[in-house]
Amino acid sequence: MEELVALCKRRGFIFQSSEIYGGIQGVYDFGPLGVELKNNIKLSWWSSMVYENDNIEGLDASILSNPLVLRYSGHEDTFSDPMVDCKECKSRFRADSIENKCPKCGSMDLTEPRPFNLMFKTSVGPIEDENNFAYLRPETAQQIFTNYKNVVDSTSRSVPFGIAQIGKAFRNEITPRNFIFRVREFEQMELEYFVKPGEDEESLDSWVQKRLDWWEKQGVPTDQLELYEVPMDELAHYSKRTVDIMYKFPHGTEELEGIANRTDFDLGSHSKKQDELNIKASVKQNKDSNSKLGAQSDGGDWFVPFVIEPSAGVERGFLAILNEAYTEEEVEENKRRVVLKLKPHLSPIKAAVIPLKKNNKDIVDLSTKIKDGLQSLALGRVVLENTGNIGKGYRRHDEIGTPTCITIDFDSLENETVTVRDRDTMNQERIKIKELQNYFIKSIK
Ligand code: ATP
Repeated sequence: MEELVALCKRRGFIFQSSEIYGGIQGVYDFGPLGVELKNNIKLSWWSSMVYENDNIEGLDASILSNPLVLRYSGHEDTFSDPMVDCKECKSRFRADSIENKCPKCGSMDLTEPRPFNLMFKTSVGPIEDENNFAYLRPETAQQIFTNYKNVVDSTSRSVPFGIAQIGKAFRNEITPRNFIFRVREFEQMELEYFVKPGEDEESLDSWVQKRLDWWEKQGVPTDQLELYEVPMDELAHYSKRTVDIMYKFPHGTEELEGIANRTDFDLGSHSKKQDELNIKASVKQNKDSNSKLGAQSDGGDWFVPFVIEPSAGVERGFLAILNEAYTEEEVEENKRRVVLKLKPHLSPIKAAVIPLKKNNKDIVDLSTKIKDGLQSLALGRVVLENTGNIGKGYRRHDEIGTPTCITIDFDSLENETVTVRDRDTMNQERIKIKELQNYFIKSIK
């Protein structure tokens, strides 16, 4: 973990948030390379959900919502962790994370566990009082449920179908820890997949398999993962069954993604409350459509769909992917290199173009032209590495996972060829400039 944290800082993947003022616990910033890797992870998830399935739609809903959403979803009452306080040093811990002794000062004088709600509250509008507040969402899922009918009406979907969303979620974790593993502000990639009641159990099993396959394609092999059946007494308030995909993180084996059978809990709860409150939502104005938010007709019978939810944290995925990719190799005797063997579709930089001489105008001009040509293919970021030190360029790009380095030298001006170097094998070959685009596309796909 220490090596990963050091690499992240050194190369600009992840910084501590507000570092110049001493930081803020459980919050991180993603630097120039971190934002690229994060975007690539999200794009890969989005493609696998929204583009590669013919029955999944996307959504980007708000972080703030009417407080009733999180009241009737059950979060206001139940989204809490048990915590204990040390009466001696006043530190606060998650009850399940400690034995019966304070990890900070060793005192055994601890309070009984008490529930601590994990939702952040903020005031809305100019007047700060109990009536003008909203929660920052603790999961992206709720706004999918509240938009269920909008999506159905605007896309004519019927079950089985899914709604996918990626976005920020906030949890006031009692003890944020292990770098970006447990933080207070993070991103989730969530799919809510709606099925007929009775088809839910099979659907959950199939989503577990699909998600394992997806992690494998991101470079997190199944043999580094374990499935954990969450026991009944640990299930979230909405869940009938949850299977966690656990990864062997550097600090221990913990949850990477949860796949929950949320039953008809959320759609049912919001529909019921809407009816009780007699809310005149626009969805009710169409007499032909059922008034209930989450109901669908099946040959005349109305039912509330069940929902299967694969929910993965971007930061935990980032950490797992980085951990799998991180490699130290002996190159020659007493010479080691650090190389990030990222899957090329995730690499923050797809290729580096390196001029042999940084002050030679012809070489730099040709390098710039080559860089622009590769960049225009829109397959991700390509950089011009004009430091005049090829060895240093290779070392840097090995360490940040760039699949290909392209060196432009005097011969390139004469015979229109360049040297391409493969990150993993370190093999170098000479290829024609006109073949470079195809080579580049192949190296990424
Ligand atoms: P944990 O038991 O580790 O607190 P959870 O069961 O509360 O996690 P879920 O509610 O299932 O987590 O959230 C879905 C996913 O969101 C998790 O699998 C994880 O990847 C991510 N996630 C949840 N909480 C955090 C957090 N505090 N920091 C980073 N990622 C998180």
